[in-house]
Amino acid sequence: MSTASVDSWYAATAPAQTEHPALAGSARTDVCIVGGGYTGLSAAIHLRKRGFEVTVLEGERLGWGASGRNGGHVGTGQRADQETLEALVGLEQAKALWSLGLEAVDLVCELIDEFAIACDLKIGNLDVAATPKAARELREEVDHLAENYDFNALRYVEKTDLGELTSAQGMHGGLVNSAARHLHPLQYCLGLARAAEKLGVTIFENSRVNHYEEKDGVRVHCEGGHVDCDHLLLACNGYLGKLEPRVAGQIMPINNYMLATEPLDEATARRLIRDDTSMSDTRFVINYWRLSEDRRLLFGGGESYRARFPSDIKAFVRPYMLKIYPELKDTRIDYGWGGTLAITMNRMPALGRASPRIFYAHGYSGHGVPIATLSGKLLAEAIAGTAERFDVMARVPSPRFPGGTLLRWPGLVAGMLYYALRDRLG
Ligand SMILES: Cc1cc2nc3c(=O)[nH]c(=O)nc-3n(C[C@H](O)[C@H](O)[C@H](O)COP(=O)(O)OP(=O)(O)OC[C@H]3O[C@@H](n4cnc5c(N)ncnc54)[C@H](O)[C@@H]3O)c2cc1C
Repeated sequence: MSTASVDSWYAATAPAQTEHPALAGSARTDVCIVGGGYTGLSAAIHLRKRGFEVTVLEGERLGWGASGRNGGHVGTGQRADQETLEALVGLEQAKALWSLGLEAVDLVCELIDEFAIACDLKIGNLDVAATPKAARELREEVDHLAENYDFNALRYVEKTDLGELTSAQGMHGGLVNSAARHLHPLQYCLGLARAAEKLGVTIFENSRVNHYEEKDGVRVHCEGGHVDCDHLLLACNGYLGKLEPRVAGQIMPINNYMLATEPLDEATARRLIRDDTSMSDTRFVINYWRLSEDRRLLFGGGESYRARFPSDIKAFVRPYMLKIYPELKDTRIDYGWGGTLAITMNRMPALGRASPRIFYAHGYSGHGVPIATLSGKLLAEAIAGTAERFDVMARVPSPRFPGGTLLRWPGLVAGMLYYALRDRLG
């Protein structure tokens, strides 16, 4: 399978992808990375910069996973809000996590700049409140972040003024975040891949890792051969499956879906999102959207917890879009696609060591464009032996989902469905 076989607007508009061979025979490297998304490629770049020999093994094509299919929102902070984090790890650590979240957005921008990655990088997000309670919480967030974190990039927009910024229906207020960014996720991912390659990273595609064993180092096995390495990085996120049972229980894979409309006329596009920011809402199953370079609405909404995607993804996502923009009822939908991401119990990523030689980072819970990129850098720091910042993230408790790997937790799926239902009811 290739990214081209994903019916996404991204695959249709990304430049032709360099083909990399599949692993054949034996190879030796300092660090072997499993997974060619943001986590794996960012780790590869930062490890190469520190002088390590690096090999990436990707089971499909680079960017085939969530990194090539997502909403392209580059949000500030962490997926969990700061007040939740303060309760979880205390104010000081919460501040460190907040700073890392801001650094993550900067890092995305710096990599784009350093490697001249053309990926339509744009500024700003408008988060809209789906309930009056959510509007109150957004307003409180502005004050909390200004007072405790000296963060002044947020502006609360009253319900009565929201119509100037967007024709989104049923919203009770909004939050403009001028520190957030948005981009073309697959172009960004393939740009990271080109950068890694330029720095001398060895890349194999269509090379699925079946298992590995640890002795003096780690031997990593694919069907066509094996790689011997000192350190192994697992950068598989929602696609980890049963590869590493010691940590698989930290994450739950869920599927999320997007559509792209036909190109809109200028006036309609500006009515939907006046300032060309990204947009999101406060529902438990978040809706998120933005305009593409060719003025399509790229809209993400709806998720599922089964292994299989719905047979008609366009029809699955369309009602979420129409609830917010009924004016698009006659607009053609040109693309529909899905992807798998990993969530954690507390919505904070899980970074750590499965053993002294095996590192992992996953569970970005829908906030991976910045945080997976940063996690790659932190993994590189940890391997290079300067693990302070890695440990700030790794210290956040990462409770296990009961039941282990893929869909062995009917109770949790029921819980997710309950909150999704609450979204629909109001
Ligand atoms: C529809 C959707 C919308 C999203 N929207 C946003 C958003 O707007 N903003 C945001 O911040 N985040 C968003 N996310 C989440 C974000 O995309 C992910 O957190 C991020 O891409 C994770 O990057 P990654 O490199 O860890 O994983 P991935 O990009 O999923 O890469 C993992 C790779 O590992 C490979 N792999 C797995 N197992 C093996 C194996 N055994 N051998 C070899 N290779 C293997 C896979 O083939 C895959 O390519 C969204 C996700 C989805 C699915």
